[in-house]
Amino acid sequence: MTFNPLSYIVMLKAVTRCLWSNPVAGRRKMSHHISPNLSGRVAIVTASTDGIGLAAAEALGQRGAHVVVSSRRQANVDKAVSLLRSKNIKVIGTTCNVGKAEDRDKLINLTIEQCGGVDILVSNAAVNPFFGNILESTEEVWDKILGVNVKASFLLTKQVVPHMEKRGGGSVVIVSSVAGYQPMQGLGPYSVSKTALLGLTKALAPDLAHSNIRINCVAPGIIKTRFSAALWENESMLEEFLKQTSIKRLGQPEDIGGVIAFLCSDEASYITGETITVTGGMNCRL
Ligand code: NAP
Repeated sequence: MTFNPLSYIVMLKAVTRCLWSNPVAGRRKMSHHISPNLSGRVAIVTASTDGIGLAAAEALGQRGAHVVVSSRRQANVDKAVSLLRSKNIKVIGTTCNVGKAEDRDKLINLTIEQCGGVDILVSNAAVNPFFGNILESTEEVWDKILGVNVKASFLLTKQVVPHMEKRGGGSVVIVSSVAGYQPMQGLGPYSVSKTALLGLTKALAPDLAHSNIRINCVAPGIIKTRFSAALWENESMLEEFLKQTSIKRLGQPEDIGGVIAFLCSDEASYITGETITVTGGMNCRL
């Protein structure tokens, strides 16, 4: 392409005119205009009544998706559904402990019955029942952590595949963690489960691509939620974490929600088997 100084000047004038008449136009557009690029899509988000899952449900809903929220407790589900409805988001909800096969079935069946299909799965649920020296962790701890964090992510993905195939394709996003790259002290088994999710994403990508389904992963840094309260409530620990970030603040659930929505959108149509770290610049290397 050749550089045409005349068209450059015309463009510059137009931009200047626009900024002159409305000095914050560019900024306002950036922060408030969200295009409904997911309208007509149905999105299941697990563990979505609080924190990152709720923010992901909101981000998907704001882009026009019909969202299905869930978590273990009915009261939390009810609260999340009414919060999202108050923001004009199309949403239904049910209880689902992702570690239980009958709950996973219920979640998928309800989605198909009430929304007519499924296009998006965000596998966000995780537990951490153990904090301490990894050598003290028991078989029970490992079964629980791997069962909920890893196995359930795989089983849910496997379960939605035939439904996504019926729609001609779909998108899966798995929520891992910065701890998957560098095990956190005291959180050995949890960190290992999050590393496994990076592998699961890569292992599934080629097979899912045959069905036009993309699968990607998001690895959040330290995000201010109840789950991570033990890390940020302690001032010296928080200071230590912030030393490791370039952006000197804790992440907010919304910082993750938007990235998840992007990965589910057609704008990410050539991204699969990938993990996006959203850590404010923490070093992430396996
Ligand atoms: P959060 O704010 O504490 O929310 C946890 C959500 O999970 C709640 O809605 C909870 O509702 C639900 N939940 C818990 N166990 C569940 C289960 N077995 N089945 C279904 N739902 C369940 O947590 P968060 O920080 O957003 O964490 C979400 C994900 O982000 C997790 O995968 C976590 O590993 C990951 N992550 C978090 C951070 C961080 O700094 N916060 C960093 C990296 C990765 P109920 O109690 O009603 O079940």
